[in-house]
This record gives sequence, structure tokens and C-alpha cells, in this order.
Amino acid sequence: MARTATRPRTGLPVREVLRRFWPYAAPRRGWMLVSLLLAALSPALLSVEIWLFKVVVDDVLVPRDFGLFPVVAASYVGLTLVQAVCDGADRMLSTWLSQRFLVDLRTALLDHLQRVPLEFLGRHRLGDVMSRVSGDVSAIESFLVSGTSRAVSQVLQLVFFSVAIVLIQPLLAGVALVVTPLFWVTSRWFARRLKELSRERQRRSGALNASLEQTLSTLPLVQAYDQGAREVQRYAAEAEAKYRTEMASARLRSVYAPTLDLIELAGALVVIGTGAWLLARGELTVGGLLAFLTYLSRLYSPARGLGSAVTTAFSAAAGAERVVELLDEPTLPPDRPGAVDLHRGPAELRFEGVTHTYAGASVPAVQGVSFTARPGDVVAVVGASGAGKSTLAALLMRGLDPDSGTVRLDGHDLRDLTRASVRAQVAVVLQETLLVDGSVRDNIVFGTPGASDADVERAARAADAHDFVSALPQGYGTPVGERGRRLSGGQAQRVAIARALLRDAPVLLLDEPTTGLDVLSVQRVAGPLRHLMAGRTTVVVSHDLDTVRDATTILVMDAGRVVERGSHDDLVAAGGTYAGLWRAQRAEAGREPDGLPTPTPVGVG
Ligand code: ADP
Ligand code: MG
Repeated sequence: MARTATRPRTGLPVREVLRRFWPYAAPRRGWMLVSLLLAALSPALLSVEIWLFKVVVDDVLVPRDFGLFPVVAASYVGLTLVQAVCDGADRMLSTWLSQRFLVDLRTALLDHLQRVPLEFLGRHRLGDVMSRVSGDVSAIESFLVSGTSRAVSQVLQLVFFSVAIVLIQPLLAGVALVVTPLFWVTSRWFARRLKELSRERQRRSGALNASLEQTLSTLPLVQAYDQGAREVQRYAAEAEAKYRTEMASARLRSVYAPTLDLIELAGALVVIGTGAWLLARGELTVGGLLAFLTYLSRLYSPARGLGSAVTTAFSAAAGAERVVELLDEPTLPPDRPGAVDLHRGPAELRFEGVTHTYAGASVPAVQGVSFTARPGDVVAVVGASGAGKSTLAALLMRGLDPDSGTVRLDGHDLRDLTRASVRAQVAVVLQETLLVDGSVRDNIVFGTPGASDADVERAARAADAHDFVSALPQGYGTPVGERGRRLSGGQAQRVAIARALLRDAPVLLLDEPTTGLDVLSVQRVAGPLRHLMAGRTTVVVSHDLDTVRDATTILVMDAGRVVERGSHDDLVAAGGTYAGLWRAQRAEAGREPDGLPTPTPVGVG
């Protein structure tokens, strides 16, 4: 059900990016100003430093006059000290600003995602959400925080250095400012062509590898159908294409490097030639010329930097759009004013004509469902996949609210209760998300922080988990591995049952508690499950009919509606859908090749 939006992305306008994300930087706006001042100071200091160099040449070296040297030397030392302090402060401050921004925005994002309805996960791939929280958030940061001070520093360097060369020799500055951009544009053209070619080379390499991998991984198939010649031809075509790209790139490179050298040389020669002429006419000093060339050579990098600032802005705009999509995911509505805190205790659960249609769906996922479950009852919900079972479960936990009809706990409409008290009433054993990364103990106390070790062990014993947990290398402290990979399916299930037992909630929701378990594991969890259900109001969702045989009431769902209801025996006797499913499942079990006995039904004791 991974439906992700595929509409073309144009990115968010800069004004919107600012409006949405400035608030995460705003609390430190005073410090941001300081950081901008520091960023402005650095090109200013650099300008002075190069100017000092002119003074050394013109006033110390050329006149061979040592008199001024101590002053110049002291200025150099002073300047370097000031630069060191400013650079250090700038680095600390800008790192602090950008990292705080990242922490605040990411935390806000995760906080938001904690409150979206569960159906969100059906619409987004996990990897996609993760790349939004990591990559796209950094793109926004580069633009809004670190990018701004970099841009300020680069613009000022352009301005200061241009002013400096005009001050040194206006005529020469005029020549340089006309000539240099011309050369610069030419070299940029070459550079762009070369970049296109190198992108093409990468693409070709990728294609060649993919082709190789495909051929080798399907080798048995290729040989069996004698398609080797065609595969070789296909691979050769890819290899030829890569060869042509490599050659084109080499050709361009062999022309590019010398041409670029020539261009740069020509540019420099025009400036130096004019400079020499002015020098001869006494309109320029040696130090002036040297400083001039230094300023000029340092004009390139900020100009190029401003080009990359544009790229940063584009990727921030694209990233911002993807992050805003997450931030704009509607959250579950907050508790109503005056919502009741339901006391914990045995509770009667009642669905009254409950209907829910997912946003964008044309037919309801659950339609007009009514049933009542009292303490001690087990209501089983069965049906083909897509029948609406999980939707029903989400409605029970208030992960979704009904469009019409009412879900009641002890007579209260769930929407009139605080969400926290609804969740405190309901313990769940989910099929897929059984375990969190952490120790066995962490997993058992997950819903009951602060439970004592004795309580944990009691729950584990009741769930038939104590023995295998004790046998683990670090007992209850053993890490279960990511998603519980170090435990078998049945063991993970028993840990999940221990968690629900410890939580000791009056209403129990089991979603497919035995799916994916082998026959022996199903038998192994049967006892603990029965233990867990005793005395509680239980709703169990399953498509394994053995699991639900002993339920008080079985609801058979089809396309969102309850089409049959009753006890197992009633339903089998009625000879409807359920009876058909039951016969089919029996027949299947009977055909098991190794003649294993059908599993003991898991249900209520
Ligand atoms: P079951 O658990 O019985 O397999 P579900 O309750 O998951 O059924 O789904 C019932 C129907 O609702 C299906 O048609 C399914 O495609 C649709 N559905 C489920 N989740 C979503 C969702 N998040 N958004 C839109 N439609 C959904
Ligand atoms: Mg389901």
C-alpha cells in the first residue's frame, strides 16, 4: 500500500521557506546577527592584510628603508591575532546556530509524526520519511543559517576587493574588470561541458554494472534458454557506449587543460602588461601591482561561491517542500475540552453502527459495524485481507475516529474521553511491530515504565517467556536486536504478551497474534494467550480460524461489513461464508504433507 505522491516538485518559494522555517531559527536571531557581523569582518580583515603587503613592498622593500618595518610587523601580528579570534568565534557560533536549528526542527518534526494517524504509514515509505528528516532538513539549514553568512561574506569580499583594486589604480581596475569576466565565462563554458560529460560517464558506469549484475545473477536462466549470445550483445552495447563517453571526455580534457592555461595566461598578461605600462609611467607602484594581482586572483572564488549559493537555494526550496508535506500531515484531533478521564477497570466495549472511509477512498473501509464485548468476552474478527479488520482495530484504539456511529467504552463515546485514558484501557499485541530495539526487559516494561523487576518476571512467567529469557546470555538484559531479530517469532510473541500482561489493561486487542508462526510456536503461545485474555474484554483479529474457534462471538467481515456473526458452532451449522472458510481450512490442514496434527485451537479457556 505504498502510495507516494509523484506530482512534479517545483520547490517552495523562498518567501514560504522563510515563513515556515524562520521560527526555528528566530529564538537565536540576536546571535545570528553577531554571526553575520563576524562573517562580514573576515573579508574586511583580509583586505587589510593584502593592503599591508603593498605597504611592505612599497615602503620597506623598494626604498630599502627598515624604519617602517617594526610598525608593519606589529600590524601583521595584531591583524593575525584578531583574525584568529574572529575565525574561532565565527566557527563556534555558526556551528552552534546550525546544529541548534537542526535539533529543534528535527525534534519538532518527530513530535509531529508521533501524533499523525497510523494510516500515514500506509501512504509513505519509511526510507522516504527518513530522508526528509535527515537530508531535506539539512538542505533547509544550509540555506537559512549557514548559507546566509557564507553568502554575506562572499558578497562583501567581492565588494571590498573590487573597491581595493579601484583604489590602487582605477584604469587598471577598469581593464581587469572588463577582461577577467570574459575569460571567466569562457572557462565556465568548458567546465560545464566537462561536467556534463562526467555525469554521463557516471551514468554509463552505473548502467554497465547493472547490466553485468543482471547477466550474472540470471546466468542459470540464460544458459538454460541458451540466450548467452544476446546477453553478451547487450553487455557489449553498454560497454561500447561507455567507451565512447570516455573518449569524448578525454578529447575535451586534452583540449581543455591547455586552453584554460592559455586563457588564464592571456588574461593575466593583459593585466600585467597594462600594469607594467602604468608602472613605467609612474602611475602604479610595484607593491600596488602585486597587491592588485592578489586581490584580482581572489575575486574568482567568491564569484563561484555565489553560483553555488543559488544551488543551495534550489535544493532548500525542494527540501522545504518535502518537509512541509510532513509538517502539514494532519494530526489526530486533540482531546475535546472537558474530555473525561475514564477510570481503569473492567470495561464494556460497544461499536454502534461504526463507519469509516479513508481520505480519498470511494467506499468505506468499515461500514455500519455494531457489536458489544463485555469483560470476559472474546470477540473475534475474521475475514479476507482488505475486509476492514485492521481499520476496526484502529477505531478501537482511537487511531481513527468514525465518520458516523460511535465506539463506546463503558457507555462513553471514545471521543468524549481523553485519548490517554482510552490507551490506558487498551493493551495491544500487534502482529508486525512486536519489539523495540533494547533489552528484553525494556520491551516488557515498554508500556509500564517503572515496573519492578519482580513484576516483570511475574509477567514473563505468565507469558511462558521466563525460561527462555533466563537462558539468554544476559537474561532480561539481553538486547533483542533491531526489530527483535535475535528472538524467534514465537519468543518475540511471548515477550509481547508479557508486555500486555504487565500493562494489565481491561481491554485487549490482538491483531493476528499467530500469523507467521509455525505450528509448534502457535501451540506454545496458546496457553499464554489464554492467560492474557482471562477476565478481560478481548477483540482478536485473525484470519487463522483455529485461533478464533473458542471466541464468544465471531464477526465475519467482508468489504467492510459484518456479514455473519455467532459462535463457531452456530456459524458452521449455518453453512454460510464462515462454514465455507472453515471447510477450506480443514481441507488444507488435512493435506499437510508431513501429517502434522492440526494445531490446538488458541482461544479462551
Ligand atoms: P484488513 O486488515 O482486513 O486486511 P484493512 O482494514 O487494512 O483490512 O483495510 C480495509 C480497506 O481499507 C482496504 O480496502 C484497504 O485498501 C483500505 N485501507 C487500509 N488502510 C488505508 C489507508 N491508510 N488509506 C486508505 N485506504 C486504506
Ligand atoms: Mg490487516
